[in-house]
Amino acid sequence: MTDAAVEHVDVLIVGAGISGIGGAYHLRDQCPEKTFMILENQEGYGGTWRTHTYPGIRSDSDLHTFGYRFKPWRNAPIASAEEIMTYLGEVIDENDLARHIRYQHVITAATWSSDDKLWTLEVTRDDTGEQLRFTANFLWMCQGYYRHSEGYTPTWEGMDSFKGPIVHPQTWPDDLDYAGKNVVVIGSGATAATLIPAMAEDCNHITMLQRSPTYFVAGRNINELVESLREIDIDEAWIHEIARRRILHDQNVFMELAAAEPEMVKQELLAGIREYLPDDYDVEKHFAPSYRPWRQRVAFVPDGDLFQGIASGKASVVTDHIVRFNETGIELESGEQLDADIIITATGFNLNVLGDIAFTIDGEPLAFHDAITYRGTMFTGIPNMAWVFGYFRASWTLRADMIGDFVCRLLRHMDERGAAVVTPTLRESDADMTLSPWVDPENFNPGYLSRGLHLLPKQGDHEPWQHKQLYLVEKDELPTADLEDGSLVYD
Ligand SMILES: Cc1cc2nc3c(=O)[nH]c(=O)nc-3n(C[C@H](O)[C@H](O)[C@H](O)COP(=O)(O)OP(=O)(O)OC[C@H]3O[C@@H](n4cnc5c(N)ncnc54)[C@H](O)[C@@H]3O)c2cc1C
Repeated sequence: MTDAAVEHVDVLIVGAGISGIGGAYHLRDQCPEKTFMILENQEGYGGTWRTHTYPGIRSDSDLHTFGYRFKPWRNAPIASAEEIMTYLGEVIDENDLARHIRYQHVITAATWSSDDKLWTLEVTRDDTGEQLRFTANFLWMCQGYYRHSEGYTPTWEGMDSFKGPIVHPQTWPDDLDYAGKNVVVIGSGATAATLIPAMAEDCNHITMLQRSPTYFVAGRNINELVESLREIDIDEAWIHEIARRRILHDQNVFMELAAAEPEMVKQELLAGIREYLPDDYDVEKHFAPSYRPWRQRVAFVPDGDLFQGIASGKASVVTDHIVRFNETGIELESGEQLDADIIITATGFNLNVLGDIAFTIDGEPLAFHDAITYRGTMFTGIPNMAWVFGYFRASWTLRADMIGDFVCRLLRHMDERGAAVVTPTLRESDADMTLSPWVDPENFNPGYLSRGLHLLPKQGDHEPWQHKQLYLVEKDELPTADLEDGSLVYD
C-alpha cells in the first residue's frame, strides 16, 4: 500500500449507529474545522435498528430521551425500528453527514504510534475485499456493546434433535413462516415482550418460556404532557426539551422510590399488569422478579399488548427450567413437555469489546481489561480515544450526547494548549485507589455484561476514575470536568 492510498482525518468515528451519527453531528456543530469520517461495517446506517428485523421491533424506552437532544421527536414515545431509522436518516440529511460515512468498511486493526502521534486503521471492504488504510489523530469508538453478526444462544442438550428451526431474533430469517404454527420464545426480556404480541395473531399459539420473570410496566403509548403542549401550538423544540425534563424527573423519582421502597414499587408494577389479565392469573409467578425494580431497565409494554395476548389465549407464559430439547420441542424440569414447530432464542447478546478490532499501542497488544476508565469514556494508557457507552437504565443516547459535548470540548482544549496527544494517566494520589468492575454487578446485571465483565476496563473509587451510569449526576459533572486536574496528560 502506498502512502497516497492512506486517507487521513482528524477524527475517525467507528460505527454509524445512533452514537456514531450523533458524534458526527456534534463534531460538525462544535468543531467545524475538524475533518472526520465514520467507518461502518454494515451496508447502511442505524446499527442496532438496522441489524434487528424481527416482527414488531421497537424501542423499549421513549424517543424523547432516546432521541437526540438536538432533534425533536414528533411521533408516539415508543417507536418502531422503521421510525428510528427515518429519524436517523433525517439527521444525516439535515446535517450533510452522508459524505462523511463509508459503509461496508470493516475495521480489523487499530495501531497507535507515539512517534507519529497517530492511529492507523486497517480496514477491509466487505463488498470488494479490498484492504484499505486510514490514519486519524483521534478515535471515537461508537461501535456499541454487542456483536452484530450473531446473538447469544446458550447450548442445551438435544438442540440438534429438534426438527424445526431455532432462530435468534438478531439474525431473523426474512422467510420464516410462522402462520398457524406453535412457537416457543425462550427469554423474557424486552425482545421477547416485543416479539410475542407481534406474532401472536398469526401463530396458532406462542409461549414465552422464562427461567425467571422480568419487570414490565404497561401503559398507553402516548405522552399526555406532549399532547397538551401540541394542542396549544408550542414549538416542537420546546416540547422535546420539556418532555425530556419531565421524563427524566419522573424516572428519577421512580428510581429513588424503587431503591427506598422496592416492595411497594414492585406491587404497583404488578397491579398495572393485573389490570390486563384474568382474575385467576398467577401474576406473582410469571411477572414478579426476585431482584429489585430498576436493577435493569424496566421495559415499557405499550398498551399492555403482551398481556392482552395472554388474556386472549393466543399467548402464554411458562416459568420453568429447560432440561433438554427433543424432536418435538422442549422438556422442562417440571416434567412438562412444550411442543413447538419453531423455537426462538431471545437469550441476549455477545458482548463485543471495542468492535472486535485488534488494538496495539506502540507495538504492544492492548490489554483493555487492565485499563482504568476516565469518566466511563476514556482509558488509562490509551491515547486519543473515547468510547461511547451509553446509559442502560435510562436512554443510551442521553450519555452519547454528553460524551459528544465532552469529546468536542477536549479536542478544542487540546488545540488551545497546542497538544496533539491526550492520555488518561493515574496521578500519584490515585495510586492506592480501590478498583472495581466496569459496572457494579449488584446494581446492574444483564447476562451479556456478567459474561463479559472480565474483558472490560475497571473503575476506581473516586473521580475522575468512575463510570457512574447516573444521568442526573453526570449532566452536571461531565460538562464541568476539569481537563487540567492532572489526570489527563497532554503531549
Ligand atoms: C432490540 C434492541 C432494542 C433496544 N432498545 C433500546 C431502547 O429503547 N433504549 C435504549 O436506550 N437502548 C436500547 N437498546 C440498546 C441500544 O443498542 C443502544 O441504545 C443504541 O442503539 C446503541 O447505539 P450505538 O450506535 O452505540 O451502537 P450500535 O447500534 O450497536 O451500532 C454500532 C455500529 O458500529 C458498527 N461497528 C462495530 N464494530 C465495527 C468495526 N470493527 N468496524 C466498522 N463498524 C463497526 C456496527 O456495525 C454498528 O452498526 C436496544 C438494543 C437492542 C438490541
